[in-house]
Amino acid sequence: MSISLRKHAAMFLAATFTVGSMATFGAAALDQPTAVLSSTLNHSVGTVLTSAEISNAQQAMAKAKASALKAQQDAAKKAQEEAAKKAKAEAAKKAAEEAAKKEAEIKAAATKTAYNQLVASAATARPVAYSTTYLASDAIKANATALGNYKLTFYDPCVACNGNNQALTATGTTLTEGRTIAVDPSVIPLGSRVFIEGYGVFIAEDTGGAIKGNKIDIAVSTHERANELGVQYANVYLLK
Ligand SMILES: [Zn+2]
Repeated sequence: MSISLRKHAAMFLAATFTVGSMATFGAAALDQPTAVLSSTLNHSVGTVLTSAEISNAQQAMAKAKASALKAQQDAAKKAQEEAAKKAKAEAAKKAAEEAAKKEAEIKAAATKTAYNQLVASAATARPVAYSTTYLASDAIKANATALGNYKLTFYDPCVACNGNNQALTATGTTLTEGRTIAVDPSVIPLGSRVFIEGYGVFIAEDTGGAIKGNKIDIAVSTHERANELGVQYANVYLLK
């Protein structure tokens, strides 16, 4: 074998060996003694290599080893960075979840307070008329019992509307616009505080022969007003 051919063979083997070692065994496999390396090369080439050829192979090995170590270090650094990034994202997610939970708790407490105030407020005499002021709030939706959509009619203390009872309700109170409603007591217990969406809070304190199921008769002061208001439909909530 010529010097040139042997040199190329040694370089080729060194390169093959290092690439193969790196791929198969990792950087640890590159730690084998130079004696084993030169022996492997000499055996493969079938003759004794020059010291320069061995030195070249050693340099190639050292370079490959350094390169493999750097790759390992880079990979470790990258993994560490990824882990830190992941931990940071998880911490941020947890903080956001806790903030949302806290906010929901505050909102729930506020709606509960608003609801309690509504339940405690007096249902007093006032003109009955539809108003968006009386749309069901979150506090009502969250805390009251939704009874569904009801048919609303209107009546007053006249003989035609209330017979001989006049302004006397079934519970003995005075029929009062803005407070009194007649209900089916098997559906809404007498004495209940009822929120009629669009009309506000009333007290179930009267009954009526035609008031069965999901029907409510709302008291107003005059027959004329009862006729004007006619028939309406609204969502009804049982407050308490
Ligand atoms: Zn009437």
